[in-house]
Amino acid sequence: MFDPIIKQKQPFAARILESALTPGREKPANAYILTGNNTDDMLFLANETARILNCGHKIEECTCVNCSWVRQNTHPAVIRVEPEKTVITIARTRELKHSLLISSQYHRVIIFTKADYKTLHSESANALLKIIEEPPRRVTFFFFARDREDMLDTIVSRSQVIPLKYTPEPVFDFSLLGGFPPENREKALLLAEKLLKENTPAEDILEIMQRHLVLNIKQNSENRDFCLKNINYLKNVQKAANELKSYVNPQAVLDSLLLSGL
Ligand SMILES: [Zn+2]
Repeated sequence: MFDPIIKQKQPFAARILESALTPGREKPANAYILTGNNTDDMLFLANETARILNCGHKIEECTCVNCSWVRQNTHPAVIRVEPEKTVITIARTRELKHSLLISSQYHRVIIFTKADYKTLHSESANALLKIIEEPPRRVTFFFFARDREDMLDTIVSRSQVIPLKYTPEPVFDFSLLGGFPPENREKALLLAEKLLKENTPAEDILEIMQRHLVLNIKQNSENRDFCLKNINYLKNVQKAANELKSYVNPQAVLDSLLLSGL
């Protein structure tokens, strides 16, 4: 039923959802919470669910108009709710509720791509609780979060939680950056030279620098001058990453970056 790629990547979640979509088996839940750190897989699973719910053939290689629209992200029944800046507003959830009360020829699938309690806070969620519990005919909700603990209990208690397989986070070797940020011009150029001799590509070195600076800022939030210096470097690292993308020579990029904060 589901695309084999997602069945291989997320066998447990795909099996639960497929089983709920098989005619004659259990009914789909009103709302699913997908937890984990891989939003791409979450979207894939929610889209596959929407595709099967709206397809007459329910096969993985189907090319009917509903399946094509879902694959192209243009199906009117798949409604993605994204935060405006950092939160999902009360106006947005109220508008969504009203639109769902109008009947549709499709099985609508509503996807909250960021549903932690800071983004989907209780005032906004309250407008939806009743229809999550008793949705109009042919409506299914999906909420994405890193952990079920990150979500409002009022939503968790009305949903089926499906934990996804975690994608391993990349390991960063901060020891590479000994002496960063450099104290003077001489040390800056020596560090640039050392970094260029590493087997690590310049793009990855910048990524490690970025994480190192963010950690510095988080751990020293009370030291204003130190933070400002790190924030400044962070901007320069971003600029350096863009220069690398424009094929500027890595040595020139690293030299000018390491000299920039002095
Ligand atoms: Zn189809």
